[in-house]
Amino acid sequence: MTTIRTSCPLCGDVELAPADLSLRLVPCRGTGTYHFRCPHCEEIRQRPAGHRVVSILLATGVAYEVMDEAAPITEGEIRQFVEGLNRQNWQEQIIS
Ligand SMILES: [Zn+2]
Repeated sequence: MTTIRTSCPLCGDVELAPADLSLRLVPCRGTGTYHFRCPHCEEIRQRPAGHRVVSILLATGVAYEVMDEAAPITEGEIRQFVEGLNRQNWQEQIIS
């Protein structure tokens, strides 16, 4: 059986079966994130998946879903947006 080696920030290296992971793909980019429940501490862990990781996970038969581009934006994205507004003095730009 295929085992996938990944790491938990708390427990270090862990080995999982493909059925223990699920992958979320970002359309067009071919990257995404994957998450799994750590077999040691039983916390749900989420990790970024680059092109290489995505192709490995798909090749081993990990379940995946494609993220909807119209998905609700995250708090992090809102924060970045607000920071961008503050930085750019957009009001002045609009007036002038
Ligand atoms: Zn753990």
